[in-house]
Amino acid sequence: VSPDVVICGAGVGGLAAARALREVGLDVLVLDRQRDTPQVAKGELLQPESVRILDAWAATPALRETDAVPVDRLAIRDPHGILKLNLGYRDLPGPYRSILCTRYPDVLDALTRCLDPAVEVRRGVLVEDLIRDHTGRISGVRVTQDGNRSEIPARLVIAADGPSSRLRQAAGLTATRKTYPHRLLAVELSDVDVAAEVCAYLTDRGLRLVYPLPHGRCRLYVQVHPDEFRGPSTAPPDAWCNQLVAEVPALAPLGDALRTALPRRQVLAVYRLSAPRLSTPGLVLAGEAAHAVHPMAAQGMNSCLADAEALADQIHATGDTDTAALDRALLGYQSARLARLNHTATISHNAARMLTLTPGPGQRLGRRMMRHTAANPRLVRLTAGNLSGVAIQSLRPMDRLYQLGLLSDRRANAPIGGAPAGGADPTHGGMNR
Ligand SMILES: Cc1cc2nc3c(=O)[nH]c(=O)nc-3n(C[C@H](O)[C@H](O)[C@H](O)COP(=O)(O)OP(=O)(O)OC[C@H]3O[C@@H](n4cnc5c(N)ncnc54)[C@H](O)[C@@H]3O)c2cc1C
Repeated sequence: VSPDVVICGAGVGGLAAARALREVGLDVLVLDRQRDTPQVAKGELLQPESVRILDAWAATPALRETDAVPVDRLAIRDPHGILKLNLGYRDLPGPYRSILCTRYPDVLDALTRCLDPAVEVRRGVLVEDLIRDHTGRISGVRVTQDGNRSEIPARLVIAADGPSSRLRQAAGLTATRKTYPHRLLAVELSDVDVAAEVCAYLTDRGLRLVYPLPHGRCRLYVQVHPDEFRGPSTAPPDAWCNQLVAEVPALAPLGDALRTALPRRQVLAVYRLSAPRLSTPGLVLAGEAAHAVHPMAAQGMNSCLADAEALADQIHATGDTDTAALDRALLGYQSARLARLNHTATISHNAARMLTLTPGPGQRLGRRMMRHTAANPRLVRLTAGNLSGVAIQSLRPMDRLYQLGLLSDRRANAPIGGAPAGGADPTHGGMNR
């Protein structure tokens, strides 16, 4: 029996879509070329908006079992640890006011465990191409499993196959990818005691970011030059660690753990990506097949989960699941999501630039904007609301002038729109046992 929906990709984007579309009554098959869950360091910070969605899907109990760590502020500090900007989440409107720090495989596991048993996740299946009906509408996928080729017809194909999406290309949809001029070295440190915050240290060589992980661990990201860990010019690990700690004395307590963990580092290219169209009849893009931002903005999973929720809402609203109704829902999804994704891309890029620019006019401007934002409680709350995903509000041109210090904001201490904070944060209550 053919499924209603074939989802290509069992990452956060694909599993979230499976969870949401099953809930609106569709038969869902998920395919992934990888046989096992990838053990990589990506997607560890779940913004409050993500926690809200995962809560609605009953996925947070599985995360709670992994001792995910709730934190309620993003702190920007100088190399000595002096606080320069405190983006507190405690004043966010609504009940979700913490980031959950977790491990990426645990997020995938939590999503898998909240799937309806009727959803099949088939691994070790490479989706090679799309199939189309006599009208040209996409009507399924062509796959290879264990050397055997076959076709799987479906009324809807979801391309959740990541940033290099083969299906996006096969469907004739485009995306623009821009690479940042630095890489990120990621390393997981054990037996450490770090503050309950996502902490960005600003240095003349770029960003150093630290946050806690379950079980006395933490993640350290270090912005590096693309060639810094390549070839014979690579500094010996000890010398590299010593220099890092000399430049950021606040990291000294992590020095020994860093030396031990450095051989297990990952060095990652960083880019942003956006697709101007998200759908074509019979196919829709979800997750990083459609959009990616600088990882330090911690927005990727948030957008994956929100894509899934929005798509299910649109399908539910059309009230039918024949091909014509599905295609109408895809257009609705596209218009509902594009504005929000563009907003996320803008705030993420601005945040990434502020944190990663090295000395020069751009960095001076970024630091100036950070200082004026830090001194303006309204802009601090606005920025925290945007990053958290639970209180989205675009900055106005006037706000940019306040950030630049060109105008003084008489409303700096005024509350921003939205309901006042109230009730206990279910993330904190649930996770901080
Ligand atoms: C270093 C780093 C740190 C990050 N940190 C955060 C963070 O803290 N918070 C956050 O919200 N986001 C973060 N992100 C972003 C987040 O990880 C991604 O947005 C999210 O994981 C993307 O999920 P996805 O399902 O869209 O894509 P992917 O994770 O790329 O999944 C795509 C899946 O499709 C499968 N696939 C691909 N092609 C085929 C094919 N032809 N046939 C079958 N299967 C196929 C792949 O095997 C893969 O499993 C980070 C990213 C990076 C790189």
